[in-house]
Amino acid sequence: MIKFNVPSVVGNEINYINKTIETRCFSGDGYFTKKCTNWFEEEYLTYKALLTPSCTHSLEMAALLLDINDGDEIIMPSYTFVSTANAFVLRGARIVFIDIRPDTMNINEQLIVDAITNKTKAIVVVHYAGVSCEMDVIMDIARRYNLAVVEDAAQGVNSFYKGKALGTIGHIGCYSFHETKNYHCGEGGAILLNDEKYIERAEIIREKGTDRSKFYRGQLDKYSWIDLGSSYLASELNAAFLYSQLERANEINNIRLERWNEYYKGLLPLMELGKIHLPIIPKLIDHNAHMFYMKVKDIEERSDLINYLKENDVMSVFHYIPLHTSDAGKKFGSFFGNDKYTTSESERLLRLPLYYDLELNKVKWICELIIKYYL
Ligand SMILES: *Cc1c(COP(=O)(O)O)cnc(C)c1O
Repeated sequence: MIKFNVPSVVGNEINYINKTIETRCFSGDGYFTKKCTNWFEEEYLTYKALLTPSCTHSLEMAALLLDINDGDEIIMPSYTFVSTANAFVLRGARIVFIDIRPDTMNINEQLIVDAITNKTKAIVVVHYAGVSCEMDVIMDIARRYNLAVVEDAAQGVNSFYKGKALGTIGHIGCYSFHETKNYHCGEGGAILLNDEKYIERAEIIREKGTDRSKFYRGQLDKYSWIDLGSSYLASELNAAFLYSQLERANEINNIRLERWNEYYKGLLPLMELGKIHLPIIPKLIDHNAHMFYMKVKDIEERSDLINYLKENDVMSVFHYIPLHTSDAGKKFGSFFGNDKYTTSESERLLRLPLYYDLELNKVKWICELIIKYYL
């Protein structure tokens, strides 16, 4: 049986966890947390990276930092994970879902301006499959309308847009280190603050609304409650695990890309015959091979192909049910404009196994299986 995902273990995880046990420092912001956040700050040139328990928590922190309130409107694609929307709904916002582009499955940047009202506070972009949104256009709209841009870069760690790391282009970037992502620690995340003005308050929000971060740095002789907040710190044990993966980030990336390219090459004949569509990577974008998907004719063909692959011991999956069609999505938001691509394209999309431990010859075999299905 070829599983859909196997979380990676790349070498030093257990050594670094042992090192943490020896030092007896387990709560947040210790040695390995600093190793991780320095890695992001130095490799990606962001002002500040903070580890969190998940990307969901990073998004919640973003909503708090932007002072999202009752009745504010947030523009985002409907084709995304629930946390992208929930984080803002928790603050009382209404979600304005707009359509995606069929080529990248990302927010259609051309539709954003028409969806802006005087209640709009932020644009939340999702870099689907680790392939960047059209950030120059989006940042330009944000400047003209004085809106914040939050990047849900859960899938986009170590992807680049015109040389800039995803997560560092908008005002705030959110990463996930869930075990289904490229670099992981079971459950984990980070928030990237790309504007200095957010740093002090982010530290407070993350430390239960207190200035404990300053106190720990010796900048205060006591700490107290000064703002809204929660506990958004990651444990040192998770940071130790994560650092062992970040140290090997390029190797992990290359292995994933090799598998991604193998799928592409193997399935290209089917695209040339007009049977399926393959992902499109726009120019000037370096992606991290987070996901390999193909698009089939329709939802029936997809179910049939999933069953066929399963009978041949290959697990394949699909996602997302567009948020605007879900019960909560209808309650907390609405779709602006026409749903030209969100529903129809999401019904055609099928994800194939792709992970660090997946042998290249298995990828070849899966491609041959799929070719046999169509020919
Ligand atoms: C995985 C994912 C999340 C949630 O990440 P967690 O770390 O599990 O909270 C959010 N948004 C997108 C687009 C994701 O893929």
